[in-house]
Amino acid sequence: MQFKSMIIDNVEVSPGYWRMRMTAPPELMEAHPGQFVMVRVSQSIDPLIRRPFGIFDIGLYQPAYTGAALQSYFEILYKVLGKGTGMLSELHETDLIDILGPLGKGFDKGSAGEEKLIVGGGVGLAPLYLLAKELVKDSPVRLFAGGKTKDDVLCITEFERLGVECYTATEDGSLGECGLVTDVLECRLDSTANKGRIFACGPHGMLKAVAAIGKKRNLPTQVSLEGYMACGMGACLGCVRQGSEHTPETPDYRCVCTEGPVFEANDLKWEGN
Ligand SMILES: Cc1cc2nc3c(=O)[nH]c(=O)nc-3n(C[C@H](O)[C@H](O)[C@H](O)COP(=O)(O)OP(=O)(O)OC[C@H]3O[C@@H](n4cnc5c(N)ncnc54)[C@H](O)[C@@H]3O)c2cc1C
Repeated sequence: MQFKSMIIDNVEVSPGYWRMRMTAPPELMEAHPGQFVMVRVSQSIDPLIRRPFGIFDIGLYQPAYTGAALQSYFEILYKVLGKGTGMLSELHETDLIDILGPLGKGFDKGSAGEEKLIVGGGVGLAPLYLLAKELVKDSPVRLFAGGKTKDDVLCITEFERLGVECYTATEDGSLGECGLVTDVLECRLDSTANKGRIFACGPHGMLKAVAAIGKKRNLPTQVSLEGYMACGMGACLGCVRQGSEHTPETPDYRCVCTEGPVFEANDLKWEGN
């Protein structure tokens, strides 16, 4: 679905990280956690290619004018990296923005009651908030959030408000444990006899480590990939990743935008990717 959204709010929540709230058509309320949108960041032809962002949250809000009915909104959480995200951060309330979505395959939530372990690195937390909001309805949820410094660990208060137990780790020790978030996850798994279903999003190194932890401990593990992507609809094949069966003789490629961005970690090839 393609639609125009009006920006309700666009605020810097931590240095270099922004959270944008936009109006949404009612159909977007049906989006699954882990799905994403392709955003046209400018009205001009530069940059031509839309940028992909996970859906951070969806909900209803009361517009400021009196007597207005509740309206649907959605949010993205983004890190300013280059031209496109820089332009996004300069947009203001009431600006219009062109969106395509929801796209891709989201997370499989698993069964009610089982422990859910969510692992996010930096802005990788973006698609995990909506997931946590769904999971807390019927399961205990723990979040493991990591970053280089405290500025990279985002929106923890929001997760805590959902009733999620949060563990944090930073590489410089400025928040939580000093070290990698995957070490904190391993500690937790050691103390709970390897219980839980794992969901992760973040940088490649972190996802590779999470995939290895899930495999070693025989835990169902899903990862959401955030590599480069151009069309978002399976046409350009610019986002393909090697599947677990890939060899030079028998190619096995997975299209991140249509078959993902969420994959069972065991379905992907991790070595040397
Ligand atoms: C399915 C999906 C969901 C995503 N969700 C989010 C999200 O919720 N929040 C968010 O902040 N980002 C998300 N991303 C990444 C985001 O799309 C890119 O950061 C964005 O497109 C960069 O655009 P830009 O024009 O600012 O950067 P560009 O000008 O295109 O690039 C600037 C610099 O950033 C590097 N870069 C660009 N894209 C990426 C990338 N994907 N990973 C690592 N380095 C990159 C480039 O190599 C370059 O050095 C997602 C990506 C995918 C595929």
